[in-house]
Amino acid sequence: MKMRIGGKEVAPADDVWIDVINPATGELIDRVPAGSAGDVADAVSSAAEAFDGWKKKGMRERGMILFHAAEIVRERHKDLARLLTMEQGKPLREAIDEVRGYANILEFYAGISAQPSGDAVRLGASGDALVVREPVGVCGAIIPWNMPVLIMGWKTGPALLAGNTLVIKPASSTPLTSLTLAAILDEAGLPPGVLNMVTGRGGDVGEALVRNPGIKKISFTGNCTTGERIRELASSHLRDLTLELGGSDPMIVMDDADIDKAVEGALRGRFYNAGQTCTAVKRLYVHDRIAKEFIAKLKTRTDALNVGNGLGPKTDIGPLNSAEQQERIARAVERTRERGEGTVLTGGGIVRGKAYETGHFYHPTLVTDVAPDSCLVTEEIFGPVLPVMSVPDLNTAIACANASRYGLGASVWTKNISTVKKVFDEVQAGIIWVNRHLTVPPEVPFGGTRESGIGRENGYHALDQYSRTKTLFLGW
Ligand code: NDP
Repeated sequence: MKMRIGGKEVAPADDVWIDVINPATGELIDRVPAGSAGDVADAVSSAAEAFDGWKKKGMRERGMILFHAAEIVRERHKDLARLLTMEQGKPLREAIDEVRGYANILEFYAGISAQPSGDAVRLGASGDALVVREPVGVCGAIIPWNMPVLIMGWKTGPALLAGNTLVIKPASSTPLTSLTLAAILDEAGLPPGVLNMVTGRGGDVGEALVRNPGIKKISFTGNCTTGERIRELASSHLRDLTLELGGSDPMIVMDDADIDKAVEGALRGRFYNAGQTCTAVKRLYVHDRIAKEFIAKLKTRTDALNVGNGLGPKTDIGPLNSAEQQERIARAVERTRERGEGTVLTGGGIVRGKAYETGHFYHPTLVTDVAPDSCLVTEEIFGPVLPVMSVPDLNTAIACANASRYGLGASVWTKNISTVKKVFDEVQAGIIWVNRHLTVPPEVPFGGTRESGIGRENGYHALDQYSRTKTLFLGW
């Protein structure tokens, strides 16, 4: 596939391409251009040319294009999901969820496009003021490989509705579904240049995008180290920044919780997308009084999960997205074992056997009695490994939950409203779920505290972040 600049497909000037490999089979699916700083400059120019016309359209007109794109996505969701599974690895039903989730986001923003926005402020003898919102300009969006479709939706929905134009850089291992969605948005009626997509390596295309002075806002989702680098690069131009970074979400299960429901929550919360989700359950704290029963049930359910090619009808867990990811996970578990920092209750290794040789599979793993300074607790583990710790009371659970540099999400499983209030007040995170984990609907703002990032995506809040106020002051 080629990149998209100014509504056209563009091949790399120097004919250098990046292979896109199926992480389950090792097969080449397609290749995309290894774009350059020159391609980024062309894309930014196209987006700048398209900006004025796009900004002048009414919100409702922009919303209708998003709505039409969502309709096309729904019609073609099976093909899109299959492509997503092939490049990313996730089970097909999760890919279908993600593609439908993308359509939901576009529909949410299309849905609010008809609502009046702005404020009129009466200031007595001084006059009256009219406050409206204006788009920021050309925005840059950098997308990771773990949820490439959903995260593209989080950025394109509000940015485009607010009247901005975009240059997007997809992750190098998962550019194909994103390029297909970019073509669908053009087909739905986006004027040429409103949405551009430049493929290529983060260090080249990503950095060129952040450095380009024509870019007025950057929205980045990825790991903390890259986020820090982007913050450094962007600071020289006083750019607006949204950084959605890593997470190490705690799940707290109290002794009054519905144990079976919490077991299912932990299973989905940790093993969805092979554990490669920013808001996955990455640390589980269970009350001493129910720990034995809870852990036994969780082990039974974990052992029943099927690992395999995401296109297989019975697959619950697909491969990790790359050999590096697989190695990183294997190393973290080995280190914990060698140092005696936890007991591997089940799993704890690369999946072996002929059917698995070509892919990056890892057994779903539970580790108990984990030391608080184990890397499974202190680092973000982006794979199917769950450390489970038992705690004597809620205060200890909250202290453990907060003993992290991250603050993305957290959940508490209980029937007690006072427990809910205490967790909500005291746990540091951007979202607290009760008897649930992982769900991030487009209606509610999403983003972290501490090293999990700055800014919010989704909801009306994201629309605010892709626009700024302008005031007309009338001194009669
Ligand atoms: P990376 O930061 O490595 O990559 C993310 C994107 O940034 C890719 O498109 C990558 O390109 C690009 N990139 C890499 N280096 C640079 C650079 N120097 N300048 C500009 N762009 C660059 O993230 P991971 O692959 O590690 O993604 C997983 C991370 O994302 C996890 O930490 C996860 O928690 C986090 N995440 C956070 C979410 C949130 O909302 N808070 C949601 C989902 C994930 P290329 O692919 O070419 O390397």
